[in-house]
Amino acid sequence: MGELRKMTYINQHVLNNLFYILVSIFFFYFLYDYVRFFQRKKVYQRLLFVVCLSVPLILCMKYPIYIAPDCVHDLRQVPFLIGTFYGGWTVSLPLLIILLVARWVMYGYQFITVAVYVMMFMFGSLFSPFFKQLPKTKRMIASMMMTFILAIAATILAIAISDFEVTESYIVDFILVPPVAVLFVVFAMETLREALLIRSKAIKLEKMEVVSQLAASISHEIRNPLTVVKGFMQLMRGKDISEETKEQYMNIALEELDRACAIIDDYLTFAKPFPEKTEPLHVHHELQKVIDMLRPFANIHGVKIVPTLMPATIKGNGQYFRQCFLNIIKNGIEAIEGDGAVYVAVYVAEKTVTIVVRDEGKGMTKEQLARYGEPYFSTKEKGTGLGAMVSIRIIEMMDGTWTMESEKGRGTTMKVTFHLLLEK
Ligand code: ADP
Ligand code: MG
Repeated sequence: MGELRKMTYINQHVLNNLFYILVSIFFFYFLYDYVRFFQRKKVYQRLLFVVCLSVPLILCMKYPIYIAPDCVHDLRQVPFLIGTFYGGWTVSLPLLIILLVARWVMYGYQFITVAVYVMMFMFGSLFSPFFKQLPKTKRMIASMMMTFILAIAATILAIAISDFEVTESYIVDFILVPPVAVLFVVFAMETLREALLIRSKAIKLEKMEVVSQLAASISHEIRNPLTVVKGFMQLMRGKDISEETKEQYMNIALEELDRACAIIDDYLTFAKPFPEKTEPLHVHHELQKVIDMLRPFANIHGVKIVPTLMPATIKGNGQYFRQCFLNIIKNGIEAIEGDGAVYVAVYVAEKTVTIVVRDEGKGMTKEQLARYGEPYFSTKEKGTGLGAMVSIRIIEMMDGTWTMESEKGRGTTMKVTFHLLLEK
């Protein structure tokens, strides 16, 4: 008889309860990962967490393990405590209200339930900040122990305020099974969280890789002209050098320094220590800054810059963005022999913004166009062949796309498209 009764403590409903909880945890991470909306603000994330936990909370109560005269046994405390440990009181309080209302609607009002869960809410919320500091394994152990301690405390509370009877099934289903279930669920949560974290780290690493590659090649590129300058300076120190040779050396040294400057210009942002910060960028303002920066350069070349800027906002790093269009527009100016203009326009569509830079310059041949963006490809006497590469890398980094059309003798048009940031 004893054997038979014990079997009913661990029955199909225990597994069902666990199933509801685990599925909703997966569901939470699934939505969090794929629906960008939830990543936007912490509040949305908390709201999602509350909703995803209140579903198993209610289902556990609806399909309990065991119904005793004065007690309904189910695993509702597992989602409740998970929410409390991970979310603190802001998640716990709505869950508490949902739990108490649901319990009241389904099985009627019982004071013990209110007392027990208010107690769990208070101690669980206090435990939460401590819990969140812990590494994965310690979280599993700490949450299991805390669940066990809270179950014992709840039992003592229940006995103290009523003539509550501690049955075998109560010990199994309320005191022993929940800590193990919490252990499982925390393990699942941590594993999923880790997977998400590693992925976002990998994306960041990839970006860092691009930047460090660029940084490595720039220092190499600048070292070359500087070495040449140094060499000529040393030569000039020699006593028996004619004024003429000195003049010659000086010119070479100055040219090399010019080259170093050109490289730094093309690399501007990458040469600086960069804050890897993305922010809302007002495309029209940023482009205006670039155009202002390039005006003197355009004037020297007898080129007009004609902007048609519409307000639009995207997400990205301002420094990178300006560097990108600085290089593109500068190439446009340099392509113009004699008089001409570079047109910079912004087109806003439903979800995208397209920036078009068109010049009336000398254009490119098919071969040149195919090599556009290749490092060190330059047709200019003093070109670095780095500007286009930097621009393209930045566009890719910002999740943008680009196309370029060019006709020899007619001009070149560069179209760059980014996702529009929908303003709240
Ligand atoms: P650089 O400007 O130092 O030569 P870039 O990487 O900026 O290096 O550009 C590479 C090459 O692409 C240029 O040398 C030029 O031949 C070609 N190019 C880029 N933009 C244009 C343009 N708007 N019109 C014509 N040719 C261009
Ligand atoms: Mg250039």
